[in-house]
Amino acid sequence: MDEKTLIKNIQKDDTLALSKAITLCESTLESEQKIAQNIIAALSEKSGKAIRIGITGIPGVGKSTFINSFGKMLTSKGKKVAVLAIDPTSEKTQGSILGDKSRMDELATDKNAFIRPSPSAGTLGGVANKTRENILLCEVAGFDVILIETVGVGQSETTVSNLVDFFLLLMLAGAGDELQGIKRGIMEMADAILINKADGDNVQKAKNAMLQYKSALHLFPAMQNGWIAQVSTCSALEKIGLENIWEMIEKHQNQMCANGYFIENRKEQNIHWLHRQIKEELGNKKYTQLKTDGKLKKLEEKLLNKKATIYQLLEDL
Ligand code: GDP
Repeated sequence: MDEKTLIKNIQKDDTLALSKAITLCESTLESEQKIAQNIIAALSEKSGKAIRIGITGIPGVGKSTFINSFGKMLTSKGKKVAVLAIDPTSEKTQGSILGDKSRMDELATDKNAFIRPSPSAGTLGGVANKTRENILLCEVAGFDVILIETVGVGQSETTVSNLVDFFLLLMLAGAGDELQGIKRGIMEMADAILINKADGDNVQKAKNAMLQYKSALHLFPAMQNGWIAQVSTCSALEKIGLENIWEMIEKHQNQMCANGYFIENRKEQNIHWLHRQIKEELGNKKYTQLKTDGKLKKLEEKLLNKKATIYQLLEDL
């Protein structure tokens, strides 16, 4: 498929074309990346319509199982769901997330779902930037909900939170040490905390953990956007509590659209990626220079007005 056909077919919701474009985008060959970037540029006006949800938690917490069940629930509502990943550990472990799709079996065979493992090469920033571009491609290909999975190891959550509209932290009910599993900074970023595996003998323990997190969250500073982080229990395996989570996300979406934070947040994210890419690819010195001579502001405007993509702006530089 050539560039024109890819552009045409992606817009016709052709997942094969989408896959192909993503592969080009992740290619290490300059010539292939260029094609992908042309596609992104041609379609950029049409991107931005999906809701982007980040999902994190330690290995074993049930992220894959959750994405499978939650994704299926969404497709049953008529939504088209794309699953992408950022895996900061993948270079060491050959992909610890989404590598094993077996726990996403049901979703993987759903024609309204698209699952793509994490780009593996490069720095966390580079990998995340690819994921950012993949989000745009999935959006123009007509996906309504984009789930972005990452492992809870620290750095990657901050990166993912710069890509999403809603950030979901999955946790387990521990025996008395509920607050120690995950760093406070990550909890502060979460729009919702879900205590997973609330089934069988674990139901009461999960409820207790929920109460503990609720009171712990009271001690955190309120979010700037006015949202109060929610805590809930669920069972990804038994598909319990998932409707409630979707309602929560919709409520957040409505609230953020009404108070202007939805657009504001996306603007800030775009600017964040522009700055980050300039620093990574051209160096801090160049970044500071652009900032002091006022050129950075101009680049930001171009990006926000969809006059150019980040890639194009960097190429011009
Ligand atoms: P990930 O590493 O976070 O992606 O976790 P997985 O989704 O691979 O799940 C790890 C293990 O926990 C698997 O054996 C799952 O079957 C199990 N698991 C996941 N969710 C639940 C749940 O809600 N309840 C129970 N009982 N087990 C679960």
